[in-house]
Amino acid sequence: PLTPSVSPEAGREGKACPREGIILPGAPAPQTGPSFGRVSNSLPKGPDRPTPQVHPSDQDDSLVQRAEHIPAGKRTPMCGQCNMVIRGPYLVAMGKSWHKEEFTCSHCHSSLADVGFVEERGSVYCERCYEQFLAPACFKCQQKILGEVINALKQTWHVYCFLCTGCQQPIRNNTFHLEDGQPYCETDYYTLFGTSCHGCDFPIEAGDKFLEALGFTWHDTCFVCTVCSTSLEGQTFFSKKDKPLCKKHAHTVQF
Ligand SMILES: [Zn+2]
Ligand SMILES: [Zn+2]
Ligand SMILES: [Zn+2]
Ligand SMILES: [Zn+2]
Ligand SMILES: [Zn+2]
Ligand SMILES: [Zn+2]
Repeated sequence: PLTPSVSPEAGREGKACPREGIILPGAPAPQTGPSFGRVSNSLPKGPDRPTPQVHPSDQDDSLVQRAEHIPAGKRTPMCGQCNMVIRGPYLVAMGKSWHKEEFTCSHCHSSLADVGFVEERGSVYCERCYEQFLAPACFKCQQKILGEVINALKQTWHVYCFLCTGCQQPIRNNTFHLEDGQPYCETDYYTLFGTSCHGCDFPIEAGDKFLEALGFTWHDTCFVCTVCSTSLEGQTFFSKKDKPLCKKHAHTVQF
C-alpha cells in the first residue's frame, strides 16, 4: 500500500507573505483587507511521486509494484541489497528496505526508485525488461502478458484474449468446453451443443433445422426411413425399437 509520506524539506515553498510593512510618509494608507497568505500554500506537500498507473489494457494488473519512499528518520534499517545500515532516506519495497541508488533493475540496472517494477523469483525488473525478457506471450495476440495470465489449452493468454467462441466473453477460470478446438463457456456450450441428433449423433447447432419424434431430437435430414432413407418429415411414419420406418417398410422389417 502506498501512503503519502512527507519529507522534511518538502512543503516549504509556500511562504507566508507579510502584508504589514513600513508605512512611508505620504504613501496611501494600506487598504484594509485580508492580511494572511493563502492557507492552501502553507499546507505541507508530499513528495511529488506519480501515482501507480495501471497498464491500459491490463485492468487486473497486479504484477507492477512501486517502491515507497521513506524520509530520513530515527530508523536505520538494513539494505536488502548490500546488507549495510541505511542512514538517510530510503526505499521500502517487497517488505525490505533499500538504498535508493541500489534498488535497480536486475537486467538493465536502471533505477526503480520512481518507476513501476515487477518481482520475479526474488529479482526485480523494470517493466520494460520484464515485458521483453520475462513476461509470457499471449497465444492469441502474441503480445506479452503483464497482468493476469490465463493458462488453458497448454498455452498462456490474456484474460481478454481467451474468450468463449459463442458470447465472446472472457472465460477466465471458469469451466469451458471445446468444440472443434474452440472454447465455449458452459452456458453457450449446452445451448449450442447440448442436444445431439438421434440419427447421426452429431450436435444440433444453433440454426440447424430439427424435429422431435419418438422422444428424440433429429436433424430434419436425419429423420428418414431406416431401410430406404425416404424422408419422413411431415409424413406418417412407423417405428420399431426407436427406428423410424416408412409405411412401406413398417411391417417388412425384423430388427
Ligand atoms: Zn545498500
Ligand atoms: Zn530493466
Ligand atoms: Zn492476448
Ligand atoms: Zn459464452
Ligand atoms: Zn443428424
Ligand atoms: Zn422405407
